[in-house]
Amino acid sequence: MQSQRKFPRTFSFEFFPPKTPAGKEKLRETWKQLGQLKPKFFSCTYGAGGSTREGTLETVLEIRAAGHEAAPHISCVASSRADLKAQLERYRAHGIRHTVALRGDLPSGLAALGELRYANELVAFIRETTGDWFWIEVACYPEYHPETRSAADEIRNFKRKIDAGANAAITQYFYSAAAYFRFLDECEAAGIDVPIVPGIMPIGNFSQLARFSDACGAEIPRWLRFRLESFGDDTASIRAFGLDVVTALCDELLSNGAPGLHFYTLNQAGLTTTIWQRLGL
Ligand code: FAD
Repeated sequence: MQSQRKFPRTFSFEFFPPKTPAGKEKLRETWKQLGQLKPKFFSCTYGAGGSTREGTLETVLEIRAAGHEAAPHISCVASSRADLKAQLERYRAHGIRHTVALRGDLPSGLAALGELRYANELVAFIRETTGDWFWIEVACYPEYHPETRSAADEIRNFKRKIDAGANAAITQYFYSAAAYFRFLDECEAAGIDVPIVPGIMPIGNFSQLARFSDACGAEIPRWLRFRLESFGDDTASIRAFGLDVVTALCDELLSNGAPGLHFYTLNQAGLTTTIWQRLGL
């Protein structure tokens, strides 16, 4: 865990590509507001099989045109090598040098797995086709990916991505700082020596958070779930309590050496900005 202190702190904000003109306008307001906080970069997610390809690139280009660094994600599930190569070439042609490389998840009903099975193969493919052009971030899971069979597998599979050439990692969100610090110790013991930035999910809506968490394996601790449930439909209380909890989490992470924070903003500026201000960043 101590080894993370040597990395400069990186703060970043993640969006998803909006589908409607109203969503685009709202996201524009969001990144303009969050841009005032001067993050290191913004990132934009990428749908399985390239389903959001245009929206991801369009979002990133718009943010970059305003002078910010923005990284498109890329995922290999349900994609051919030729598709991925073409997408990487498009990123490169636009001068984009930063990407978040993921396997992605197959939406139900989609059968094609794609030519690359895991994110480590995607990282290797990016290095093979574009050399050192991209700074590559990958995902990791302090509370374990839902498909992982054992703790040892989790670290081994994460290490494969670093060995394939990834430069840094962003974690799945979590609400237990202890899980993150234990994970860092395991990574250090395995010789993983890259920044591992905690992914932070502000709490604005309990049922949405519960749904996401069930799908991605992030744990909502029992005490937190009970407290959030007790507010029922009282959104203001959920947000107020969530702000206290997530600010305290971020504070603990940074005080103990986390190399920055990556916020899953869900295209909203409010909660992230308040947490940022409370942390005095
Ligand atoms: P991998 O690293 O390939 O791991 C997937 C599973 O396979 C794990 O259980 C791992 O232990 C296992 N595994 C890995 N390598 C091997 C191997 N060689 N042999 C055997 N088992 C192996 N999804 C999107 O669709 N688009 C996005 O833009 C997106 N952005 C994300 C950003 C962040 C920061 C995070 C944390 C997640 C994001 N996701 C996104 C979700 C992600 O795609 C899913 O969590 C997906 O299920 C796993 O992706 P991965 O890149 O971690 O996969």
